[in-house]
Amino acid sequence: MRVLVTGGVGFIGSHLCERLLNQGHEVLCLDNYFTGSKRNVVHLLDHPYFELIRHDVTTPYYAEVDQIYNLACPASPIHYQHNAIKTVKTSVIGAINMLGLAKRVGARILQASTSEVYGDPLINPQVETYWGNVNPIGSRSCYDEGKRCAETLFMNYYEQNNVDVRIIRIFNTYGPKMSVNDGRVVSNFIIQALRNEPITIFGEGTQTRSFQYVDDLLDGTMAMMNNDGFIGPVNLGNPGEFTMLELAQEVIDLIGSSSKLTFLPLPQDDPKQRKPDITLAKEKLNWEPKVKLKDGLVKTISYFEDILSEG
Ligand code: NAD
Ligand code: UDP
Ligand code: UDP
Repeated sequence: MRVLVTGGVGFIGSHLCERLLNQGHEVLCLDNYFTGSKRNVVHLLDHPYFELIRHDVTTPYYAEVDQIYNLACPASPIHYQHNAIKTVKTSVIGAINMLGLAKRVGARILQASTSEVYGDPLINPQVETYWGNVNPIGSRSCYDEGKRCAETLFMNYYEQNNVDVRIIRIFNTYGPKMSVNDGRVVSNFIIQALRNEPITIFGEGTQTRSFQYVDDLLDGTMAMMNNDGFIGPVNLGNPGEFTMLELAQEVIDLIGSSSKLTFLPLPQDDPKQRKPDITLAKEKLNWEPKVKLKDGLVKTISYFEDILSEG
């Protein structure tokens, strides 16, 4: 098959491109390089079935493809808040363009939605039927509402135009190929601990997140794309729930770091808890995450050790 991956040089996108090529597919990797790096796919550039295209999804794009993974969107709060209007455009206009493309060529299209559609959730764990608790005018809303609107568009194109859609709601995912400047918690803590610098805990560190290793996410994502009949939305995440203090301690212990904790203000609207209910994914996709936090952290630490030693 010919598969289009938007956001293909990003953290998740670059892993996905590699897997698709390994399965024998032809890959069109489209990215505007806002947060992604060519470095993530440099080893794929000589592959005869890999095509790298600099393109922004907010402008129309024409190609003949069989499947589309729509991943283009900055995912780290510091990056998506850098230009909030652009973030909304990427999610909303980007979705419209990719859905228009899918409609024209009859391709199946998967949207990388997010646990952020649940906002600062009032129920724990979060189940797909929960409508969420999102501040529509807060500093996270460009991302949360953009992704919520993209889900709306996916369902509208499905119902009005019979576009073959899939929607996954991704919970916090980490692993090799995250950018050193990404700013999300796992990469921040690992880099700080490797440098023996203070670990930056936002707030008191009692907020929780559930961390999923990238390989598990890709298994679920591809199972969702290639299943017939179940369109989602479906949660993809690891139900193991940890406070940021617990995460910091685990990272310090695994690295043997001398880093101390430093406490910084909690950003506005920072969700207090997050944990996926994955009953639906288990039932429909026979999927559940396999990689324990500790094992995933070891692999990610090893990646950042290599990156930092390169200078
Ligand atoms: P990332 O920032 O590493 O990758 C996003 C990619 O999209 C980057 O390569 C960036 O340059 C590209 N991009 C951004 N705006 C674009 C535009 N207008 N046109 C073309 N390309 C554009 O982030 P990631 O963690 O790999 O996330 C990938 C997708 O998964 C995103 O849609 C994100 O919202 C979603 N997601 C990720 C997580 C997570 O924990 N990693 C959780 C929930 C959802
Ligand atoms: N589009 C695109 N590539 C295509 C087909 C459509 O980028 O191969 C864009 C097109 O520019 C439009 C959007 O997708 O802005 C939505 O397309 P749709 O056909 O749904 O809407 P319309 O063109 O009727 O506004
Ligand atoms: N966080 C932190 N220190 C950091 C970066 C993030 O304590 O250096 C906290 C942040 O406030 C949030 C959690 O870690 O409560 C996860 O943040 P991240 O940006 O990784 O993802 P998100 O908030 O989107 O889940």
